[in-house]
Amino acid sequence: MTVTVNHVAPAPVATAAPVKAVVLAADAPVAYDKPYNNETYKATHPGRFHVVFDQSAGAGESYSSKLVADRDYAPGETLALLDNKSAAPVKAYSSVQYGAGPRDHLELNSDLLFMNHSCAPTVEVSLPARQPERWEARVGPAGVKKGGDLTFFYPSTEWDMAQGFTCSCGAKNCLGKINGAKYLTLEQLEERGLVNEHIRALKAGQ
Ligand SMILES: [Zn+2]
Repeated sequence: MTVTVNHVAPAPVATAAPVKAVVLAADAPVAYDKPYNNETYKATHPGRFHVVFDQSAGAGESYSSKLVADRDYAPGETLALLDNKSAAPVKAYSSVQYGAGPRDHLELNSDLLFMNHSCAPTVEVSLPARQPERWEARVGPAGVKKGGDLTFFYPSTEWDMAQGFTCSCGAKNCLGKINGAKYLTLEQLEERGLVNEHIRALKAGQ
């Protein structure tokens, strides 16, 4: 006589998939020192883009620097993955917000730090939720020519900025004051390209 024992595995307990917060390393994979002028500058992405410093602005920290393309880019092309990011210790002028939480801010640790804001940007910073390996700066729908300014719309990532400013981007649809997405309508955000998921979520809860 054969006794058949059916080993029945316990039924899996149905649980909602946990929403894992993205935890970024405190240190950048490659150490990054912010350059302040052409003398100390070494491009982090040679052949792709570089920082132009306006030396006439005087010594010290200058707001007249900008990032320009080293070659032509097609619409939607990846400019660079955010692969040297680290956790921002605090929200700052230099940090980029990637989630709805109070600590969800990163430092780029690359020349992308020099991407200025524009209300008619040429670049989108795409931060799909919980997929930090896919976070990137990519060229917007108009493409970019070699030598063209690389800019992004700061409220596409920033909800309530550490330092708001008066915009002088010169775009026809310039918003004037830039303080973050909290102070704009969804329509104003969508008119200017990509709106990241965390900004949409915060907007929906406002
Ligand atoms: Zn503007």
